[in-house]
Amino acid sequence: MSNAKEQFLDLQDKLKKVCEIAGLSESFYEIIKEPERIIEANIPVKMDDGTTKTFRAFRSAHSTALGPSKGGVRFHESVTYEEVKVLSTLMSLKVALLGLPLGGGKGGIIVDPNKLSERELEILSRGFVRAMNNYLGPRIDIPAPDVNTNAKIMGYFTDEYIALNGSRQDIATFTGKSVDMGGSLGRSEATGFGVYLTIKKYYEKIGKSLEGATVALQGFGNVGSFAAKYLVEDGAKLIALNSKDHEHPDGSYGIYDKDGLDIEKIQKAKDKTGSELNIEAEKITTEEFFALDCDILIPAALENVINEANADSIKAGLVVEAANGPVTEGGEKILNEKNIPLIPDILANSGGVLVSHYEWVQNITGSYLSEEEVRAKQEKDMTRAIDEVFATADKYKVTFRQAAFILSLSRIEKALKLKGRF
Ligand code: NAD
Repeated sequence: MSNAKEQFLDLQDKLKKVCEIAGLSESFYEIIKEPERIIEANIPVKMDDGTTKTFRAFRSAHSTALGPSKGGVRFHESVTYEEVKVLSTLMSLKVALLGLPLGGGKGGIIVDPNKLSERELEILSRGFVRAMNNYLGPRIDIPAPDVNTNAKIMGYFTDEYIALNGSRQDIATFTGKSVDMGGSLGRSEATGFGVYLTIKKYYEKIGKSLEGATVALQGFGNVGSFAAKYLVEDGAKLIALNSKDHEHPDGSYGIYDKDGLDIEKIQKAKDKTGSELNIEAEKITTEEFFALDCDILIPAALENVINEANADSIKAGLVVEAANGPVTEGGEKILNEKNIPLIPDILANSGGVLVSHYEWVQNITGSYLSEEEVRAKQEKDMTRAIDEVFATADKYKVTFRQAAFILSLSRIEKALKLKGRF
C-alpha cells in the first residue's frame, strides 16, 4: 500500500504528464505542483481527567486561482501533512472540473475521535477554528465534513467562527451543516446520486441500458447506499456487497446473490444490527468479491483497495471510483492494460462538493432551494461535466482520469494566466 508521500509524488507525475498532453506550460506546472499554503497548528485540549493533550492539525489550500479554497476536514489517526497535500490538490481538480468558482482545500487533525469524550471533541473542534481563524471565511477558505466529521462538528465550527468574527452571514464559512443550521436539502443523497449519474451517462454513451446490469459494491455508507438505491431503481442488480464487519476476524467480507440482493433488507440490517452484511446470503471473501464477473464494480469505502495485488483478478466491465483514491497508480495501470474503463473519483463522487457549493450560495444569498430543485440542478451541472470528460477523452485519446485532469488544469491555467501569474 503506497503512503501519502508516494501518492503525492505519483500525483505530481500525473499532473506533469497531463500538462504535456494538453500543451500547458512548465511555468504553470511550477505553480500547481505544490499547494499555495499549508497551515500547521498544535491544538491544546484540557482532557476530562485534568491532563492537557495537544493535537496536530493541518489545513492546506492547494489553489485559489478560481475562488476560495473548499474541502473537508478529517479527524483520523492516520492524517499527515502529505495526505492533506494530496487531497487538497484533488479538490482543486474536482471543483474546477465542475466549473465552480472555487479552489481546492483539505484539512485534518491527527486524532482518534472515538477516544475523546463529547466535551473533548467539542473543545478540539473549536480549537481548530481558533487556530485557523485568519485563513477561514466564505471568501477565503470553506471547510466541510470528511472522515469522522459531520454536521455536528460543522455546528461547533460555525458557532466558534461567528463568536470570533461576529457576523451571522458567516454561516457560509462551512458547508455540510444540518438543514436547521442552513445546510442544503439534498446533500445526503448528492454523492451517491452523482455516482449513479456518471454510470447512467456512461451506459448511454456505450449504447447500453442499465436494466439487468450487475453491480458489485464495496461500502454501504452514505455514498454506497444511495448509489445502490438509484442504480437498482433504474433496473440494475446489486449482486454483491463487501463491507466491514467489526466482529469478523478478517475485518471485511462480502455477501453475494446472483439474482440480486435486496437493498431494503440490507438497510434494515444495518439500522437494526449495525452491520449491513447481516442478511441471509452467500458469504464471499474480499478477494472473491473483487474477482467477481460483473458489469460494474464500485469501490465506495476506502482508498487503495484496487492495487497491483488484485487488479489482475478484476473482471468487471467498468470500475467507478465512488470513494476517494480507491485505485492505486499500479492498479490503474493494470486495469488500463486489461482495457477496463475507469470513471475517476474527481468526477464520480463530485456530487457532494457540488451540492456543498449550492449550500454556500444559498447561505450567501439567503434564497433556499427545494429538494427537487437541488436534484434537478445537480443532474444538469453534473451531466455537463460528464459529457465534457467523455468528449475530451475521445479528442485526446486518453483515459477518463486524464481527460478530467486536462479539463480542470486548463481552467486553472486560464485563470492564472489572466491574473498575469506567468
Ligand atoms: P461512510 O463512513 O458513510 O461509509 C463507509 C462504508 O465503508 C461503510 O459501509 C463501512 O462499513 C465500509 N468500510 C469501512 N471499512 C471497510 C473495509 N475495511 N472494508 C470494506 N468496507 C469498509 O463513508 P462515506 O461518506 O460513504 O464515504 C465513502 C468514501 O467516499 C470515502 O472515500 C469518502 O472520502 C468518499 N467521499 C464521500 C463523500 C460524501 O459526500 N460522503 C463525498 C466524496 C467522497
